[in-house]
Amino acid sequence: MSADIFHFLLFFICGLIVLSNMSRENCLFCKIAAGEIASAKVYEDAVCVAFDDVSPQAPTHILIVPREHFDSLDKARENHKETLGHLLLIAGKIARDKGFAENGYRTVINTNGDGGQTVFHLHVHLLGGRPFIFPPG
Ligand code: AMP
Ligand code: ZN
Repeated sequence: MSADIFHFLLFFICGLIVLSNMSRENCLFCKIAAGEIASAKVYEDAVCVAFDDVSPQAPTHILIVPREHFDSLDKARENHKETLGHLLLIAGKIARDKGFAENGYRTVINTNGDGGQTVFHLHVHLLGGRPFIFPPG
């Protein structure tokens, strides 16, 4: 490999790393998970943090967020399998702990523009305390 190509690849890879870290540094949910922005936390462990949504769409509306940043379900890969499973198991646990599991609840993952995603750090919405219709709007 010539020195020119090597330097081009080096700068290209460094650029990609800088860009991906910039999105993490400016990420609202990374900051909430790290405790740098306040939230009403309801649960946390080594993998995820759960906190009340600021704009609740149901009597209980909790967001479950992985500590690891990835933008959306569209960006999830094989290495995220355990994390994704964990988020859903924690949603079920919180629903049972809050006492609305038996009545029922809704879990939602909005993905990209048409999916209605507004915060690009993957998260699971857990909504409970009222009946939900299907299909959603
Ligand atoms: P989505 O539209 O699926 O990306 O969901 C983003 C959710 O984050 C919305 O339901 C917002 O109300 C919620 N949200 C935005 N900012 C905050 C915040 N600082 N604390 C808690 N929830 C937030
Ligand atoms: Zn993030």
